[in-house]
Amino acid sequence: MPLNIPESSLERLVIVGAGFGGFTLAHKLQNSKYQIVLLDKNNYHQFQPLFYQVAMAGLEPSSICFPLRKSFQSNPNFFVRNAEVEEILIDEKKVKTNFGTIRYDKLVLAQGAKTNYYNNKQFETYTIPLKSISEALYLRNKILEDLEKALMIKGDEDISPLLDIVIIGGGPTGVEIAGALAELKKHVLPRDYPDLAIHKMDIHIIQGADRLLPSMSVQSSHRALKDLQNLGVNVSLGKRVQSIQDGQIQLQDGSTLEAFKIIWAAGISPQHIPGLKNECYHENGRIIADRFHTVKGLHDVFVIGDMSYVTTDKFPNGLPQVAPVALQQANHLSKILKGKKLSPFEYFDKGQLATIGRHKAVVDIGSFHSSGIFAWLSWLFVHIYYLIGVRNKLIVLFNWFWSYVFYDQALRLIIRPFTINKSNKS
Ligand SMILES: Cc1cc2nc3c(=O)[nH]c(=O)nc-3n(C[C@H](O)[C@H](O)[C@H](O)COP(=O)(O)OP(=O)(O)OC[C@H]3O[C@@H](n4cnc5c(N)ncnc54)[C@H](O)[C@@H]3O)c2cc1C
Repeated sequence: MPLNIPESSLERLVIVGAGFGGFTLAHKLQNSKYQIVLLDKNNYHQFQPLFYQVAMAGLEPSSICFPLRKSFQSNPNFFVRNAEVEEILIDEKKVKTNFGTIRYDKLVLAQGAKTNYYNNKQFETYTIPLKSISEALYLRNKILEDLEKALMIKGDEDISPLLDIVIIGGGPTGVEIAGALAELKKHVLPRDYPDLAIHKMDIHIIQGADRLLPSMSVQSSHRALKDLQNLGVNVSLGKRVQSIQDGQIQLQDGSTLEAFKIIWAAGISPQHIPGLKNECYHENGRIIADRFHTVKGLHDVFVIGDMSYVTTDKFPNGLPQVAPVALQQANHLSKILKGKKLSPFEYFDKGQLATIGRHKAVVDIGSFHSSGIFAWLSWLFVHIYYLIGVRNKLIVLFNWFWSYVFYDQALRLIIRPFTINKSNKS
């Protein structure tokens, strides 16, 4: 059954995914010569770099998500559909979704990436990922619920497993979560739970590589390590997890850790979409494209963002899977689709940032490295700048100001999803 989209004389461009790449592209092509159909399994755009602040009860989900319909309200040739794409039917020039099929004249794939558990079922079953706003909320609830459970325990029973948190992965996400948790433990939880032995909460970060933030400079790695250790985080470098079961983590060196909350921040893999020939995929699962974003062998199908595999002289192993790549590719592709003659895409790396805590961050811009307050302010500025929606920017700024001045985060609510027991319904 076809999706309900009116036919028009305009060429139809279907964009799959309204993340950094797809949303930006759609925005830049508003009022162009195309009928645009934007498909996403969610009805909002999510700002992934701030997921961890939702998980740490610092921000509300609505302040880092943006409703898609609001952005494209005034354009009669623009259609948003809340649908999950399941397959591309290349010969018919259609995509199949969970609500029916839709034909395209041109197709852009921008579905991003998903959590990579390296085919290990245990890692998938026993750890908490942070790749969607729902997962961030789940983590927030779990942290708060376990604190409440720990309060109920009387006598000599050990409450540590309920309090302790283990983060697997020492890239930017792992480091940012660890720093935020340490700040929460230091400034907020002792006031909320005066009758709980919060000092028993241990925060661990386990990193397989021999340094944190391996994609950044050695100076930044060292600084992040020092800052986290000063905040009381237990950092294990060069250690790999072998197995996880029922709160028990077994490391490859034989040591073990116990925790009911194990956060998985150890990698991503590209979203897979069936229907393309095998030759279109690189061995890492990303879709091979040229520097005009065209999928190998298909002149009317394009791919951008974390899903795409594009090599350049500066990046012979593929472009990094970060937001600026998706944004710059979307900008470049929008010009190509408008008919401009452009030179091949070149990624301009403006630098990398990671925050560790209050006044603590690291920044690398080319051979320039900085840390401390300058890096922290740069981090704040960059995140506010790229966040979508003026309202969101103001709310996030206000929340940051509030927690900076009052050492407080105001959103420590446990909101459980409502479920209907169908057998009880009349
Ligand atoms: C916790 C976290 C922190 C991060 N921090 C940073 C950071 O600090 N700096 C940085 O540069 N990068 C960061 N990143 C990476 C950055 O978010 C990604 O590189 C970027 O989002 C990629 O953009 P994209 O457009 O390719 O995909 P995404 O932004 O992931 O968007 C993909 C979209 O596709 C939709 N979708 C997926 N599958 C389907 C389907 N089958 N059908 C319909 N819709 C679908 C999704 O709902 C989503 O809206 C972080 C990522 C995470 C998870």
